[in-house]
Amino acid sequence: MLLIRLMENTNTYNKTEDYLKEIERLKGDLERAKFQFYVFYELTKAMRTTLRLDEIAYIILTDLTAHQGLGFNRALLFLINNKEKTINGFMGIGPIDPEEASKIWKLIKDQQMDLYALIENYYRIKDWPVKPKLMEFTRSLSFPLNETAGIIFEALHELNPIYIKDTSEEKFKNDPLIKALQSKELVIAPLWSKNIPLGVVVVDNYVTGKSITDEELKILSMFINQAAGAIENSLTYEDTLLLAHTDTLTSLWNYGYFQYKLDEEIMKANSQKYELVVMMIDIDDFKKFNDTFGHQAGDDALKKVANILKQCSRKIDIVCRYGGEEFALILPNTSKDESIIIAERIRNAIESQEIMQRHITVSIGVASFPLDVKSKDELIKKADLALYRAKSEGKNRVIVYS
Ligand code: GH3
Ligand code: MG
Ligand code: MG
Repeated sequence: MLLIRLMENTNTYNKTEDYLKEIERLKGDLERAKFQFYVFYELTKAMRTTLRLDEIAYIILTDLTAHQGLGFNRALLFLINNKEKTINGFMGIGPIDPEEASKIWKLIKDQQMDLYALIENYYRIKDWPVKPKLMEFTRSLSFPLNETAGIIFEALHELNPIYIKDTSEEKFKNDPLIKALQSKELVIAPLWSKNIPLGVVVVDNYVTGKSITDEELKILSMFINQAAGAIENSLTYEDTLLLAHTDTLTSLWNYGYFQYKLDEEIMKANSQKYELVVMMIDIDDFKKFNDTFGHQAGDDALKKVANILKQCSRKIDIVCRYGGEEFALILPNTSKDESIIIAERIRNAIESQEIMQRHITVSIGVASFPLDVKSKDELIKKADLALYRAKSEGKNRVIVYS
């Protein structure tokens, strides 16, 4: 009798334990589903707040790395450049090494930064001259769009993420991407938009060495599908923006973009305490050139001048067609002395080029912020004034406002 009761008891006990276990399991499933929903909700919501590619990319990579998100140590986005036939690092989030990891993760913990706070952080670091190390590093990565690029190129032909459990295998020994990232285990997920690959997202647990689970792979795969849609929208938007801001004859930035960019650059110069130069450039006696050779030749001359301006300026400079035969350059983080050298280089390069057996010349006016002026309108006005003086003093010269 006792034995039977004991057996019944054990039975009930086992049953209760099973139930408890089942409840725990369901609770886990529910938590995960809640979490997946949360991450997807965040991405969809973020997609509605911005169309800028850099902002979308930051949101996606933050979702992938944040503890409240998918929680990978590092996430990197690579995008295809069809013109150059390359696949290039666009943005990377995460620590560059274990030392930086402990610093970053401590900061996030101390400041109790949630997903929102992390995303918000981007507007702070966006315009820093020195970006976080992994961002700089990712930007420096570029692979050719062919077999020599190895696994990253291979991934572009897969529909699903490639999971590499052990990179020490012989076939990965000389893989360019794996060599660059030094990952022991990683996932490379292609971003498909309709039938065209846009690029890949790479994630790993470089610092913690934590193995990637099947469950994580499943969520990642779904997440990447959403992300690809967001990136595609954003690329279309950026293309349209580019078109709207480009001068059709010269392919330089147009007047509208000049105004927009100058506002932005002045804000940056203010916050980062550096000098900024605006250069106004006007072709000398261009009416005569047109009258002599016709408008078509005049248009060709404008294109040639535009090309020289691009060749003579630096990567950070913003080269615009201000209107007609006038051009404007914004030179961020540039002193007056430096700008004189650049202006002389431009003036000289244009003068020495033969266009229709003629030597076209330009006059250049230069003004500096905040040395000469305190506002954008004033800066343009003073550069114009300097240009006017260059004209009245005999053309083909550089005059700096003072
Ligand atoms: P200055 O040395 O004082 O600048 O003399 P200029 O003849 O260059 O100046 P003006 O303002 O009198 O004439 C500018 C001319 O530039 C008028 C116009 O024929 C020409 N121009 C403006 N835009 C274009 C363009 O898009 N294509 C062509 N072919 N010519 C243009
Ligand atoms: Mg003019
Ligand atoms: Mg002119």
